[in-house]
Amino acid sequence: MSRPSGSPADRTATDIYRLLFAAYGPQHWWPAQSAFEMMVGAILTQNTAWTNVEKAIANLRAAAALDAQAMLTMDEAGLRELIRPSGFFNQKAARLRLFCAYYLQTGREAGMRTLPDPRASLLALNGIGPETADSILLYALGMPVFVVDAYTRRIFTRLGLLPEGVNYADTQDFFHAQLANSAPLFNEYHALIVQHAKQHCRVKPDCSRCPVSGFCSYRQGKR
Ligand code: SF4
Repeated sequence: MSRPSGSPADRTATDIYRLLFAAYGPQHWWPAQSAFEMMVGAILTQNTAWTNVEKAIANLRAAAALDAQAMLTMDEAGLRELIRPSGFFNQKAARLRLFCAYYLQTGREAGMRTLPDPRASLLALNGIGPETADSILLYALGMPVFVVDAYTRRIFTRLGLLPEGVNYADTQDFFHAQLANSAPLFNEYHALIVQHAKQHCRVKPDCSRCPVSGFCSYRQGKR
């Protein structure tokens, strides 16, 4: 792989992707046994660490409740207990049930994919914001929609590729404009961003061994 020169004009989202992939390798996202489980995970992961989501998913699976009809049939108090490890369990139980009703009414994954505007229909649901909607579209439905999170904005503003305070839509537009329209690419890229944020670009960054430090405005003292 040829190495980019490092001048700001030469840095692109593709350059950063190549460096992150070379450093961390394939991430094998999303860790789930079914598309429905991915959607449940996307809702449960709001405002909590993934390890907590895994406990909640394990509880749902053990109770044979990792199923839309089962979640709607059981009483909400029981559902709250199962997902308690994910935090905000009152709110998330209500959101899950709302989503499950939508999922069944829409015709599960096949029906969701054929909606005129699947993203808008998800965003119309209470408690589903852009990051959750886009996670569902990309990881569960395999649609080419770039997922943006706080890690994405932190890393790419530090790199100098996005302005401070950039919003969700403009961040997403940046990636959509620079990358091929590919769900597998968007899948891997978002997972690599999460890995990079955990390994090096933390709140207090570890820049000394960072694979993209040669291209980073923050590292070069410009931010
Ligand atoms: S050099 Fe530091 S601030 Fe820049 S991307 Fe790497 S870890 Fe983050």
